[in-house]
Amino acid sequence: MNYSSNSNNILAIGCHPDDIEFGCGGTLLKYAEKGYNIYLLILTMGDVGGERWIRRKEQEESAKLINVKKVFWGNFSDTDLPSTRTIISLIEDVINETDPHSILINYFDDTHQDHRTAAEAAISATRFVREVLFYEVPSSKNFQPDIFVDIRDVLDKKLDLLSTHASQINRTRVKDLTILESARSCANFRGYQGRVKYAEGFKALRILKEIHNCEYADARDNVLRGGIAFNTSN
Ligand SMILES: [Zn+2]
Repeated sequence: MNYSSNSNNILAIGCHPDDIEFGCGGTLLKYAEKGYNIYLLILTMGDVGGERWIRRKEQEESAKLINVKKVFWGNFSDTDLPSTRTIISLIEDVINETDPHSILINYFDDTHQDHRTAAEAAISATRFVREVLFYEVPSSKNFQPDIFVDIRDVLDKKLDLLSTHASQINRTRVKDLTILESARSCANFRGYQGRVKYAEGFKALRILKEIHNCEYADARDNVLRGGIAFNTSN
């Protein structure tokens, strides 16, 4: 098996409805604006945190705002994801169908067992994908991002995505704190680290770098043709 093709497809994987929006909603909005094809895989319906049908409906509404091509549902039991082997097979199937060049997934160090299990499964399932990034959610631990995406121009839209998950806005288990305030603060902190006002932070499992033509190549060639460049012949 070779590395996946360099397609314009992006696959975001989340354990529960709203994981993706918190962790990488801004990044997906920017990808979609640039013409990329966005696919989501949600492993559970999040039915421990609310009615199944409501959470599915909220997720589908959010996906529409991102202009997602297709939402895949794992239909696993919330808080009780099965063995990693079962999830690996599912993720591999979705990868084969969507051929993503980049995958975004929950981080493996997390207080929630579903997030840990999904991340471990994804590490195996994505072994031939050229770019795999972990995103953070409020239950992530020891998350030290080294990749930042500037989301200043889509922060309000990201909060709109989270607002579609109306059943979850006040389920932070912290008095007087909404998920919207939490997301804005997180974006502000990651932005400061990334040297912009608002950002999303990521940890890479893998990035296969490509070396593109130097953007100054044309200007350099013009200089060379003009005869004012350095002489390398000696
Ligand atoms: Zn979750």
